[in-house]
Amino acid sequence: MEKGKLLYEGKAKKVYATGEPDLYWTEFKDDATAFNGKKKGTIQDKGYYNNQISAILFQWLEERGIENHFVKLLSDREMLVKALKIIPVEVIARNIAAGSLAKRLGLEEGTELSRPVLEFCYKSDELDDPMINDYHIAALDLATAEQMQGIKKQAWEINQLLTKRFKELGILLVDFKLEFGLHKGKVILGDEISPDTCRFWDAETKEKLDKDRFRRDMGGVEDAYQEIYRRLKGEGN
Ligand code: UDP
Repeated sequence: MEKGKLLYEGKAKKVYATGEPDLYWTEFKDDATAFNGKKKGTIQDKGYYNNQISAILFQWLEERGIENHFVKLLSDREMLVKALKIIPVEVIARNIAAGSLAKRLGLEEGTELSRPVLEFCYKSDELDDPMINDYHIAALDLATAEQMQGIKKQAWEINQLLTKRFKELGILLVDFKLEFGLHKGKVILGDEISPDTCRFWDAETKEKLDKDRFRRDMGGVEDAYQEIYRRLKGEGN
């Protein structure tokens, strides 16, 4: 497998072509952004941790029937993935109020929701990823009703699976963001699942183990990413 030309560079990843049209070579960067790029920095070895964490979680989900783009690790910071045409809708699942939901609804951060919530945002840097609903998604032709049905079903299932998995590791899965895309006509999970895209709190101490440490200048950012990786690898909790 060869690393071809750069197809796309995002805030956290680079995507390269391969010799195979159905496969992409992705590279995770240490660059960190928050508030839609308004805050910039680097988190040492973030690329390594997010690549490894995503690989573990994608593999674990695949074994439990959640098809996704992960094919294999290529290096510390690189993975081979199935080529997806990303649907420009960010899917956010929430179990505990935090971040923008806490602010928008006037809930104290940490308030457990009576039932989980799914939200959708339109992936657009210029517009700051505005929240949208099924009607907007249909009106803008972002996805078909059938595709949205599949996305929601998978998102709920992923939430159930990951919440349980992280609970075993002494971690609360507060909320997370997923992206889906089309591969050979099928909607499958793509992007990454990492402390960049999830809120993880230590179940005992409620300590934040995710990108909020960077967003809120709390320090200990690298250690938090490393801790998630360590627990997932089974090095004690
Ligand atoms: N999230 C993300 N990318 C985004 C927006 C949100 O990965 O562009 C994740 C974020 O890390 C958190 C969840 O989605 O785990 C909910 O984020 P929220 O809406 O509270 O926004 P934020 O507080 O991150 O601005």
